[in-house]
Amino acid sequence: MKYPEQNREITISSGDVRHRGDVVIGNTVIEFQHSPISSAHFQERTNFYLNAGYKVIWLFDFTSEYLENKIDFNGDHFVWIKPKSTFRDVTCAKENVDIFFQLSSDDVECIIRVNNISSKGFEVFKGSKPYSIGNWGELHRSMTCGCYHCGTVFLSNDICDWIGLDGRNADNATAICPFCGVNAVIPESPSYPLKKDFLEYLKTYCSKSPVQTEL
Ligand SMILES: [Zn+2]
Repeated sequence: MKYPEQNREITISSGDVRHRGDVVIGNTVIEFQHSPISSAHFQERTNFYLNAGYKVIWLFDFTSEYLENKIDFNGDHFVWIKPKSTFRDVTCAKENVDIFFQLSSDDVECIIRVNNISSKGFEVFKGSKPYSIGNWGELHRSMTCGCYHCGTVFLSNDICDWIGLDGRNADNATAICPFCGVNAVIPESPSYPLKKDFLEYLKTYCSKSPVQTEL
């Protein structure tokens, strides 16, 4: 993983308990979960970081589940074919916790921000859209944005090219990065750091290059 050494594997203490955050930038902890994790463990970790005064970003790698059709999209939300115990007790979104899933394939953008997760399924955050696809509205509400393909942070106003802007659903247009020409632009969010490090990580985390999607 290409990530600045000083941000990796940082020990955080709260009372007698210590945990090592995968990546810590400022007061945000990013946990990368490639292997299965129990519900208790997931809850405990999350609460620990929150109580210690950190924001938490979880990135779960569900690439193989997606490729093996263990995740189904029913037109409105995603369903786990086999219920996932990890999310059994997640009742609602918590403030200062963002959860992203990687569902990499040829026709789905690699990282989506998810919401309303349970053992049965999950929704894509804000109107069921992959994060770097169909982001016209979000980018127009956000002053700055970043490209995780080339790592540039820039003003949303600098975006000139969009995929699907001429179509019927211009609101679902997808931004093209003015610096590298790839549709890997994500809007600024108050809850995660739009910094070069984070963008760089997103790029490394996606095993495949962002997909040029026809909308
Ligand atoms: Zn770019």
